[in-house]
Amino acid sequence: MNQYDLIVVGLGAMGSAALYQASKRGARALGIDRFDPPHNMGSSHGDTRITRQSIGEGEMYMPFIRRSNEIWRDLESSTGRELFLKSGGLIIAPESDAASFHVQGDFVALSIEIAEKYGIPHEVLDAQEIKRRFPMLMPRPVDRAYFEPGAGVLRPERCIQTQLDLAIEAGGAIRTNERMIRYEADARGVTVVTDRSSYQADKLILSTGAWIGDLLPESYRAGIRVCRQVIYWFEADNLEAFYPENCPFVIWIGDRLEDFWSTFPAPRDGLRGVKLVTEQYHASTHADELSRQVTLQETADMYHRLTAPRLKGLRENLIHADVCMYTVTADEHFVIDRHPESERVLIASPCSGHGFKHSAAVGETLAQLALDGGSEFDISAFELERLGNIQE
Ligand SMILES: Cc1cc2nc3c(=O)[nH]c(=O)nc-3n(C[C@H](O)[C@H](O)[C@H](O)COP(=O)(O)OP(=O)(O)OC[C@H]3O[C@@H](n4cnc5c(N)ncnc54)[C@H](O)[C@@H]3O)c2cc1C
Repeated sequence: MNQYDLIVVGLGAMGSAALYQASKRGARALGIDRFDPPHNMGSSHGDTRITRQSIGEGEMYMPFIRRSNEIWRDLESSTGRELFLKSGGLIIAPESDAASFHVQGDFVALSIEIAEKYGIPHEVLDAQEIKRRFPMLMPRPVDRAYFEPGAGVLRPERCIQTQLDLAIEAGGAIRTNERMIRYEADARGVTVVTDRSSYQADKLILSTGAWIGDLLPESYRAGIRVCRQVIYWFEADNLEAFYPENCPFVIWIGDRLEDFWSTFPAPRDGLRGVKLVTEQYHASTHADELSRQVTLQETADMYHRLTAPRLKGLRENLIHADVCMYTVTADEHFVIDRHPESERVLIASPCSGHGFKHSAAVGETLAQLALDGGSEFDISAFELERLGNIQE
């Protein structure tokens, strides 16, 4: 009864997609999660996730974004659920000496280069033009932007829920509030031991997000850090001005890493505030020791230092805040690979703060690796080996 073709441990962005894809193909698949996804204890909550067609992080992501966008559209038409809101997206940075964002180099220029190469509709705006089109934004004269009109935001909780629902419909099984304690893999298969039971399968996918480090050999752990991030929602003078048809997402890269700031369009059915985030990489933690308290100092910094000089129309009234985790590799690229200790075990989790938009296709790739032994897309850039023996 507890025998499966495939077990997926961790049903967040990557795991829900993998379970759906494997179940859809007719595999006997079991998904296990320590919480009840979609939940707010990992890396996939907060109502919206940016997605764009030009991936300045590198060309190796292009097959994943194109396929993910197809999958989201298919899921929308087969379920009638709205998973994507088109708002357009702006990436703003100074013309020279911008801080890095996910990769080394000028992220605006990298986005333009990829958009030109792949025929993605886009515009390049100078500071004057940014202000004219988006009067709520206050760029400096040195800023310019990559604007992608077809970009927008995904609804992460709904994407996860939809893929889990469809996995069950296709015959997949799910155990929630059940934690994997350990697994064993040998020539005959894998055994997953949880705090409630044990299960056998031919293959195992580990998509445990910020907890992945615990499942890797010691020599890889220093190459993967868990960085606490805070998501803030502030009250708007007029929330309608921030609805997706009126307001693009903004990725705003400053002169220093700590000046990074991003704002999101407000879905009509979301929290009654405007979502803002920054990124921090200096402090790392273990996922079980994450501080989930948001301090007054953090909130004041977000409002006064990062937001007030850039965006008009928000009040200093925090409606809600949530803590989330980036699982960051040393080069900020993904890991999608076999486990170094077993061919039967696959890993996809450290997605360095830019994984959600690609997760539908990462799940499909994981299902292919598990069920076919190889994948349609080239995953050589995402090998775990590059993170081995990094010194802390
Ligand atoms: C604040 C913030 C903003 C972001 N913005 C964007 C964005 O705009 N665009 C974008 O593309 N990406 C963005 N990202 C990144 C993206 O959200 C993540 O890369 C992605 O959601 C991670 O998915 P995951 O499946 O690896 O992890 P998760 O979704 O966290 O899933 C891991 C799952 O594993 C489970 N688990 C862990 N250990 C066990 C165990 N032992 N047994 C059973 N279950 C276990 C957990 O409960 C969890 O459900 C953002 C991330 C954050 C934190």
